[in-house]
Amino acid sequence: MFDRKQIIGIILMIILLSVVSFVIYKNLNLFDTKTNTISKVDTTLSKLNKSYNYTKDSSDVSHKPISALYPGFSLNGTKKLAVIMINLKNQSADSATDQELMRQAIFTGENSTNAFYKENSYGLLELRGYYSKEGDIYGYYNVPYNNCIGSDIFKIYIPLAETLAKADGYSPELYDYIILYLKGSNCKFKGDAMNDLPVGGNLSNLFSKYMFATTIDSFVVAHELGHGLGLSHSQSIICVNSENILVPTSNNCKIDEYGDSFDVMGYSKGNLNSIQKIRLGWIFPSEITIINSSGDYVINSLELQSSIIKTLAISVPMQETPKYYVEYRRPIGFDAKLDKNLFGGITIRTFEQFGSTQIVPRLIGVANKTKENNPYILRPGQTFEDDTNGVSITLVSMNNNSANVEVTYKKSNSLLNKK
Ligand SMILES: [Zn+2]
Repeated sequence: MFDRKQIIGIILMIILLSVVSFVIYKNLNLFDTKTNTISKVDTTLSKLNKSYNYTKDSSDVSHKPISALYPGFSLNGTKKLAVIMINLKNQSADSATDQELMRQAIFTGENSTNAFYKENSYGLLELRGYYSKEGDIYGYYNVPYNNCIGSDIFKIYIPLAETLAKADGYSPELYDYIILYLKGSNCKFKGDAMNDLPVGGNLSNLFSKYMFATTIDSFVVAHELGHGLGLSHSQSIICVNSENILVPTSNNCKIDEYGDSFDVMGYSKGNLNSIQKIRLGWIFPSEITIINSSGDYVINSLELQSSIIKTLAISVPMQETPKYYVEYRRPIGFDAKLDKNLFGGITIRTFEQFGSTQIVPRLIGVANKTKENNPYILRPGQTFEDDTNGVSITLVSMNNNSANVEVTYKKSNSLLNKK
């Protein structure tokens, strides 16, 4: 019979044969699909859309479907919003003055929440009241409380405010969204929405109809309304390897819940990022270049409706939904309010999905930080390397209207760019 060495030899031979057969099988498969590049792009595109579509939650019965979330659907374009102003115990308040301030902040002012969303949606979303195009504002109503009543704020103030406002013609069915403004509150928050929760929070509350504000501020309402539209916070992620060099992923990453300093769903008054806009159906599939082969690609500024390409969506091997989303910001419109340091290059984001509906975008740290540098900006001449997936992204050049981005797939590591 066989001795020990021969048995080991036979086993090694069997393993080698299996590996060779597997490699041949895989290559044949690749060979089969290579004539089918266009349909592969189409599949990726439809998967992208699919993964961004919301599934209407059964607990969300008070909401009409948000048509803007479904690219290709015709958009009604108008959401009806009510503001109910609650005056807490012992505050002096002038209804007429504050109603006008609120109207300007949310509906009519140059920097209103309405103007912000009109710009962000490229004209697809507009806010108004049920009765008035210039917004429906109810109150003040006096209440016998003088604070936030802890976590019961939603349970106590919503029925109370709705009962009081009923006398003035208010009814919740008339509105898509309701903002409760608490004057004189010592609440710890400036704004709150039922789904204003950290990642993995209560997914059944994904769409919030009711929001709170404790300040008259367009951007606080814009943030809370973002939750109402089903958005999560815009996070940032920064990872380093054992040599303290920035890498796409490692076991040493720091996530900041509000870390996207470009985006109102993060620490900012700027435009929503491209992942959020794709999700809301405001960037159409035709305005996204899906990349799965090496080359130079042009991207236009995110802010302008006229921009032909608003996002580069970069695929990586073995993952059909693109992993990286490149955008190019310019100091235009609401983005002109952003820190000038943010306009030195392009940004790259990825996302994580929770359940079937919650998409959390993450701005990626891409460049080593120096004193005058921001680690989230990829500047001309700099390259972001994802060694694990064999993909690199370089900003070649930029001007007022566009940036030129080179994407390289390393042959040995890519299944997507094989020609
Ligand atoms: Zn929030």
